[in-house]
Amino acid sequence: MHALDWPEIDTVLLDMDGTLLDLHFDNHFWMEHVPQRYAERHGISRAMAELELLPLFREHAGTLNWYCTDFWTRELDLPIREIKREVAHLIALRPDADTFLAALRAAGKRVALITNAHRDSLTLKLERIELAPWFDRLISSHDYGFPKEDPQFWQALQADFGFDPARSLFIDDSLPILRSARRFGIGHLLAVRRPDSRKPAKDTEEFAAVEDYRDLLP
Ligand SMILES: [Mg+2]
Repeated sequence: MHALDWPEIDTVLLDMDGTLLDLHFDNHFWMEHVPQRYAERHGISRAMAELELLPLFREHAGTLNWYCTDFWTRELDLPIREIKREVAHLIALRPDADTFLAALRAAGKRVALITNAHRDSLTLKLERIELAPWFDRLISSHDYGFPKEDPQFWQALQADFGFDPARSLFIDDSLPILRSARRFGIGHLLAVRRPDSRKPAKDTEEFAAVEDYRDLLP
């Protein structure tokens, strides 16, 4: 991991799930817990539940629906908000993410959380992990009506939060989202090597990746 050019950066934009928080919670929720509850709710086998769910997940990946608890509650006839609480003990910070956030504050950077997570999911996570005090703003893309994958998200963010893209650092574990940020002109981009602590390291293709937040401290 190469050192960042901190004097060239005054705004830091951070994704939440897979970047500051361990993606294990979300992966476990969608790939294990939802299929289980769906099978029980509809009186079908677990294998049948996966057969029905996986094409739906694929169809909506990368859209706002994918991140919308109301959408999935309707679509699956499952109380998504409530069943998330059943596995909320799995919500956890990634190693040293809090050290990194504290250092950004100490260095006087402007810091915003920008997430595709629905406000409900954001609220649940902030109840478990004390992230809010580190940020100037907590922004859900649902507030703007466009996910981070969409160029219109970035225009709305700039109108709302006012930042110089060239002097901004953005960290996200999603490569399509990093590419969307790059098209908008964000000057400093980093992926995440291991968003899910239970899964192997990820190939981040053309992007440098955070291996260890302690290497990034300003
Ligand atoms: Mg993420």
